[in-house]
Amino acid sequence: MAKDRFKLKLKCPSCGLAGMADAEEEEGWAYLKGKTARRITHKPDGFKDVEDNKKPGGIDIVCTQCGESALS
Ligand SMILES: [Zn+2]
Repeated sequence: MAKDRFKLKLKCPSCGLAGMADAEEEEGWAYLKGKTARRITHKPDGFKDVEDNKKPGGIDIVCTQCGESALS
């Protein structure tokens, strides 16, 4: 099935650590039918992804040092 790939800009509001993560989602009909889960395929050193239902795609990326969300 086709995937929609895109980049996410990361910046920690506490320490200023920045980077780009790669993510993918189902595209088109699958997405509209509720397959909105986002998958992080690459993240830079110093960040980790955590489940968070309040974020788009149900995933948040946080700075491992500060524990702060790095998604803008
Ligand atoms: Zn930080």
